[in-house]
Amino acid sequence: MSFEISERDLSGRAGVLRTRRGEVKTPCLMPVINPVKNSIPPRELKDLFGYDMIITNSYLILKHFGSDAPDVHELTGYEGTIMTDSGAYQLLIYGGVETDPIEIVKFQERIGSDIGVILDTPTGGFASRPEAEKTVEETIKRARSSLEFRDDPTMLWAGPIQGGRYLDLVRKCARIMGSMDFQTHPLGSPVQIMEGYDYPTLVDMIVTVKRNLPPDRPLHLFGAGHPMMLAMGVALGCDLFDSAAYALFAKDDRYMTVRGTFRLDRLSELPCNCPICSRLSQKDLLDMPKKNREEALARHNLYVTSSEMRAIRQALREGSLWELVETRSRSHPKLYEAFKRLGKYTNYLEENDPVIGKEPRGIFIYDRRSLIRPEVIRHRKRIIENYSRPVCKEIGVFLQNPPEKPYIRSKEYQDALKILPEGEFHICFYGEPFGVVPSELSETFPLSQYECSQGTGMDVSRDLRKFIRANSYRKVFIIDPGSSIMIEGAMTLRSIEDVRGHLDEDNP
Ligand SMILES: [Zn+2]
Repeated sequence: MSFEISERDLSGRAGVLRTRRGEVKTPCLMPVINPVKNSIPPRELKDLFGYDMIITNSYLILKHFGSDAPDVHELTGYEGTIMTDSGAYQLLIYGGVETDPIEIVKFQERIGSDIGVILDTPTGGFASRPEAEKTVEETIKRARSSLEFRDDPTMLWAGPIQGGRYLDLVRKCARIMGSMDFQTHPLGSPVQIMEGYDYPTLVDMIVTVKRNLPPDRPLHLFGAGHPMMLAMGVALGCDLFDSAAYALFAKDDRYMTVRGTFRLDRLSELPCNCPICSRLSQKDLLDMPKKNREEALARHNLYVTSSEMRAIRQALREGSLWELVETRSRSHPKLYEAFKRLGKYTNYLEENDPVIGKEPRGIFIYDRRSLIRPEVIRHRKRIIENYSRPVCKEIGVFLQNPPEKPYIRSKEYQDALKILPEGEFHICFYGEPFGVVPSELSETFPLSQYECSQGTGMDVSRDLRKFIRANSYRKVFIIDPGSSIMIEGAMTLRSIEDVRGHLDEDNP
């Protein structure tokens, strides 16, 4: 196997996972298919919908066909990469399974699965602390013994990370599983946590796992596949997703969109242009026999999901993943809470977000939440920690950000130059979203490639104070027509014309 990352944005990565069946474009979502019966033939998932990889359940195959089951590709008719689950989910839901960790490892190899999962012990979303500890210990124990029984070196193995909402356990599990010979890692337990709409906890879990796993292994957010939350998952660093939601919702007459799921009978029009929705109306769907409607809805749900994955990969490549996450987060207040939780992880997002190699592209700032995006955090941090003013420019003059960009092309700046000739004056700009921008940097990305809605509530004086202190000027003038900014050691003036008068006072 190889996992090659070609582009990054935030903590998300776009790349290619190579398995013995071919290449899988990541981030990737695998539709979950029933090994026994499907209303949509699995081969269509690749040809028609563009899914490079699917997942099915080896435990259900074992139960249905017994130990002499056919090859999983032959069984499903799907030629691409197939991942098989091990029955751990059934273990979580029903409390037991009729197989054991060694049997299911050997069985997955035998049926030709391309990526297998060991039979771990899922923590789930409701476990008590002692129960969670037990599941982590048992998962690690089973991982060690399962790996010894592998025979086929061309098959890949997934080592699930358990611990649920107990982040120290997630950390411990990730470190130990990450040191073993697995090629991918699913993060277990998100389903119950997502069913409770606890998206902020999911953010904590993903970041904890990412910080403790080898970065060159794909992370799989197990059981997460609603289109409205995929962008967030990718931005946090998840590479693989799987989802049965398309089929489960269809069974329940529910219609998926990137803004949430709707009951078909509550819609009056179909807000989609997929081959199903462009051919049929909401009424046509409702009038169909249940079985046909279920299939049509499942197809629509698959189209919506694959088109969202394409939109995410495109956003990631062009560096606009933040905007997509911000938009999708407004689909549901709980998802927006998760978006707010990103504020706790600004360093994590900033560390992974590429500084170079990214096509410069305008960034949008909507409100104070947008101020946590890496480009803003990075500038505000570096301008205080790593920047020194030109030595000869000992008098700092701070102008409000002019409307024109780059700032040095503005009338305000040109006027200032006429009054304060080159030499000892260091003209800087201040305002949202970047805090302080020295004039000589104002043309660099992204300081002039942004659009900001005013009134983000940013505390600009804090940035000014830190910057002025760090650069030990002989004299500092802050030009503030409203005279609301007061900073120790600086003189606040209403207009740039007033600066000369105050300089003359010094040199009569
Ligand atoms: Zn549609």
